Amino acid sequence: MVLAYVVTADVLASLVTLATAWRTPAEAFASSWPLFLLLAGGAVLHLEAAQGIERIREISREGSPHAHMQSVWLFAGVLVLPMPLLVALIAISYLHAWLRVYKRRAVLFRKVFSAATVVLACAAAQLVLRFFSNRPLDVDGPIGLIALAGAGAVYWLVNYALVVAAIVMTNRDQPARAALGNASDQLIILASIGLGSVLAIMMTSRPWLTPMLLLTVLALHMGLLLPQFRVAARTDSKTGLVDATFWHDVAGREIERARRLLSTVGILILDLDHFKLINDQYGHLAGDRVLRAVADALKHSVRSYDLVGRFGGEEFAVLLPGVSTDEVRATAERIRLEIASLHIAVVDRLGEDRVISGLTASVGAAVFPDTDTALSPLLLAADEALYQAKSNGRDRVATAQVH
Ligand code: GH3
Ligand code: MG
Ligand code: MG
Repeated sequence: MVLAYVVTADVLASLVTLATAWRTPAEAFASSWPLFLLLAGGAVLHLEAAQGIERIREISREGSPHAHMQSVWLFAGVLVLPMPLLVALIAISYLHAWLRVYKRRAVLFRKVFSAATVVLACAAAQLVLRFFSNRPLDVDGPIGLIALAGAGAVYWLVNYALVVAAIVMTNRDQPARAALGNASDQLIILASIGLGSVLAIMMTSRPWLTPMLLLTVLALHMGLLLPQFRVAARTDSKTGLVDATFWHDVAGREIERARRLLSTVGILILDLDHFKLINDQYGHLAGDRVLRAVADALKHSVRSYDLVGRFGGEEFAVLLPGVSTDEVRATAERIRLEIASLHIAVVDRLGEDRVISGLTASVGAAVFPDTDTALSPLLLAADEALYQAKSNGRDRVATAQVH
């Protein structure tokens, strides 16, 4: 049923593309090339600058529609490009996001489906425009406003309805309200449609001024979305890592995702050995400095989409999506050696410069679904393994028993 729905959307989008490619006169292509290049360049630059933020937003949004500001470029495309070039623009934007934001981890057919919904939304919006005029941007006055607002509304509605329907069908056990996403995300789309209209008008009458709009889009993206993500992420201020609550939320979602995709998730819990001695010997401030250095080392020894969190005190947790038991163990081992090789410059409580080295850590590892199939027992198992590592002499990795 879901499959039939998704395939229908893909096929419809392909048909629309072919039909319009057939009917678009060659001179329309010739005159639209510069605009196409401008929009494609803007879309790529925009996503490139914002990909870090987008990756975090995507992680924390599993199971609800993902609103992104690429609509600025796509909706401008609706207004100035013939449909086949618009499809090419959509393809570039989605392919780029798949490579750079999702790092090829997302299921390809889902992204193809998202792209197909956008193609259909764009086609519907262009139909609305054609109803008013063949050159919609030349129409001013109330009719121009109605045409633009109508096209924007249809663009938004078609896309949103198709995506929400797909989410409701795939996540049957989740309340339908979650599939609607949150209102602020829809405001982002609304703003993008508005900016897209301005962009289209500017491109056709003052193309040299369009870089101003790229700056505007980037500034809004960083300014509006970054604080939203910071609050949601509840970063631990001492180490800059995410805190236990956020780590827990993301871990739960990654496990649900892995369950659906028949994938795996590795979990590490790490506790520094004899950390009290560091505080006793060098003072609390030096201890804090060591915690920051360990946090940095942890972040640098894992992949960009692994998530390192501070669990409390001198305990850390690492989430490793899509890795095998052997890889989890190898990563834990790498982290252990990395910590052992740290040389951390600190100032002790007498104000003297000192270098702390020879730091060690004990690590407990567990893997979904081998160790267990729910987050809490997985964490308990990793914690139990950590305890084993401690009692076997510290400075080592222990893997949870497979049940
Ligand atoms: P082990 O884990 O090897 O058994 O020994 P340990 O000395 O590390 O013992 P434990 O994990 O029980 O103690 C953790 C210590 O970490 C206790 C506390 O003084 C210190 N600590 C916890 N949070 C912080 C912090 O934010 N800053 C500093 N400087 N120290 C902290
Ligand atoms: Mg400790
Ligand atoms: Mg501890």
